[in-house]
Amino acid sequence: MIEQYDSLVIRCPMLGGEVPFQYCRKLNEELPCRKIIICWEFRIEIGKFLNEHYSFNQIHQALAPPNKTRLETILELIEKAKKTKEEQG
Ligand code: SF4
Repeated sequence: MIEQYDSLVIRCPMLGGEVPFQYCRKLNEELPCRKIIICWEFRIEIGKFLNEHYSFNQIHQALAPPNKTRLETILELIEKAKKTKEEQG
């Protein structure tokens, strides 16, 4: 479920204080903050979380550059995972 990590907190580099995951995943007009992967990758399976709860387009919209190369890699992985899922489907 999408609320599964909501109560985890992290220090936000933009705000300088602690915020819950719930804030991070809704920051961007109800879509995740564009830094969500960088901030959370060592805490939770953020790629998996995004893949499970957002469409490819939503993820793309939410996570704009500057981390383009890294982002593209992650998006490719997500797309691949989706395809595998469909094939198994
Ligand atoms: S994901 Fe965004 S809102 Fe959340 S801690 Fe990182 S910079 Fe702050």
